[in-house]
Amino acid sequence: MNWEQRIIPDVDLRPFLPKNKATNFRARVQGLIAQQQRTWPMLREATEGLSEVEYKKLSVKGSEVLAQFNPKRIVSTAARVDTATIQQRPCFLCAENLPPEEKGIEFGQDFIVLCNPFPVLRNHLVITARRHIPQGIEGNFDKLLDLSRELGDQWFTVYNGPKCGASAPDHLHFQACSRETLPILREIECWNRQAIFRTSAVEAFILRNYRINLMVARGNDYRVLINYLESALGQLARVTNVSEEPMINLIVTCEDRGWTVILFPRSKHRPSCYDAEGGARLTVSPAAIDLAGVLVVPRPEHFARISAEDVEKIYAEVTLDNERFRELINEEEERKRNKRK
Ligand SMILES: [Zn+2]
Repeated sequence: MNWEQRIIPDVDLRPFLPKNKATNFRARVQGLIAQQQRTWPMLREATEGLSEVEYKKLSVKGSEVLAQFNPKRIVSTAARVDTATIQQRPCFLCAENLPPEEKGIEFGQDFIVLCNPFPVLRNHLVITARRHIPQGIEGNFDKLLDLSRELGDQWFTVYNGPKCGASAPDHLHFQACSRETLPILREIECWNRQAIFRTSAVEAFILRNYRINLMVARGNDYRVLINYLESALGQLARVTNVSEEPMINLIVTCEDRGWTVILFPRSKHRPSCYDAEGGARLTVSPAAIDLAGVLVVPRPEHFARISAEDVEKIYAEVTLDNERFRELINEEEERKRNKRK
C-alpha cells in the first residue's frame, strides 16, 4: 500500500469529524483519531490500555516526575537502533510496511499524520515524512513550528534526534500528544529563570537548579525564532565537538503569544543502568517525553524499584553535563552582548 492508499478520503473521514462541522487541520486530526479507534483494533486496545497505566509521582530536585508503568512500550524502550539492525528491518514508518488498518491524513505536502499504536500519552500521533529520508532537524524547524501552530494550544509536539530517542533514526518524523499531564509545561512557567538572550522577537532562558539542563526559547516571529534555534544548535555542536547534528530532544507548544521551544541537549542515548546486571538494571531509554517529566518504565519490577535518586542520576547521565552546559550558556550570553553593540 502506498501513501495515496493510506490517506483517508474526505467522504470516509466526514462521519468522524467533530460536530461543529469545522474542517480545519485540528478537526481532521480529531476525525482521524476517531476513525482509527473505530477501525483499528490494535489502536483501540492500546488506547484502552492507556487508562490503566500506573503512575508513581517522584520529586527530583523539587521537580515533579511521573514514572509511568507502561509494559507495551517495551518495543520502543528496548528497540535496537544500531545501523546494522536498522538497515535489516523493514521501516515501520514507510507506507508499505504499516498494518493494513493504519491510515492517515495529510499534513502539508510532505507529511502524513498517523496514530501511534504504542501511546505514552493521550492522542499520541506520529507525523511521518512521505519519503524515507533520515531523521534530522536541519531544514525542518519550520515544519515542526507549523505543526505546533496547526494543532493549537491543547497539544505539544516532539522531535527526537536520530541518536537520542528516535526509534526510526532512518525515517524523518515528529510526534504530538495532548498536552495535559506533562509536568515540565507547568514548571517552566513558575521555576526560577535566568535569561540568556532577549530581543524584541525572541527570548531564551534556562531554569536555575532544575533537575535537568535545558534551554527554553520563545518567540512569535517564525523566521527569527528559527534563526535563533539554528544558531543555538551550531553553538551546541561546537561545545559537544560534533560535526553532524548535536544530540537533542525538542518539545514545542504554540499559543497566542507564540511558540515555546524546550531544547534538551544530550550527552548520550541510554543511561548505564540500561545495560547493568541484576538489581542495578533499569530498562529506561529517555527521549523528549521522558525528559519532560513522564518517564516510561516498561518492566514491572523496575517500576516498583525506581526511586527519585535513580531518576536524578539517569537524567544527569543522558543530558549535557554542567561544565559544557555552562560553556553553551556563556556563548549565548556572548551573542546577547554582541547583539547590543
Ligand atoms: Zn521509512
